[in-house]
Amino acid sequence: MAGNTRVGVLALQGDVREHAALLAGLGADVVLVRRPDDLASVDGLVIPGGESSVIDKLSRIFGMQEPIRERIAAGLPVYGTCAGLILLANTVLDGIEGQQSFGGMDIEVRRNAFGRQTESFETDLDVPALGEPTVRATFIRAPIVERVGAGVDALASLPDGTVVAVQQGNLIGTSFHPEVDGETRFHARFLALAEAFARTRSMRAAPVP
Ligand code: GLN
Repeated sequence: MAGNTRVGVLALQGDVREHAALLAGLGADVVLVRRPDDLASVDGLVIPGGESSVIDKLSRIFGMQEPIRERIAAGLPVYGTCAGLILLANTVLDGIEGQQSFGGMDIEVRRNAFGRQTESFETDLDVPALGEPTVRATFIRAPIVERVGAGVDALASLPDGTVVAVQQGNLIGTSFHPEVDGETRFHARFLALAEAFARTRSMRAAPVP
């Protein structure tokens, strides 16, 4: 389906390789994105898990913050996992001093929301948008979505109602790491958005007869 759609994995810090391998396995042409030129060549971007404050800082040092913000504003499909979800949030709670995000999603995300005792855990999640079977979800020092704005869909919640997966237009975010469990459906959903985005771009770029 997504054959040869060119997508990037933001490769400043975090579990870059796992996402790149998964996307390549789904048939995408994968670019590791470190510089503005790399970003300009892709029709979708995955922001991996890792440490959001570090990715934020490195993105500013390498002149990537503005280009990423601009492309998000222009409709680029982006999928953020864990730290990547934090970086897509318009508001970050419990960030380190001066921490910034790229933003784009009208959500409030709290970092490290499960506390020390439950630094990481796995659970099965019902994600109606993905159908059956349920999603095996691994949470590692994970954030939660504390507020979901109008226009944002909650794709999955924990049994207590805590929102852990969201979508707003071309932006998808999950608190957990599907890539460590061989779960491919979130990435496939992202690739479908990237493929559609690539098509509108080539239509826009087509010469007028
Ligand atoms: N706690 C990390 C952060 O704040 C996220 C952890 C992860 O990406 N697994 O960025």
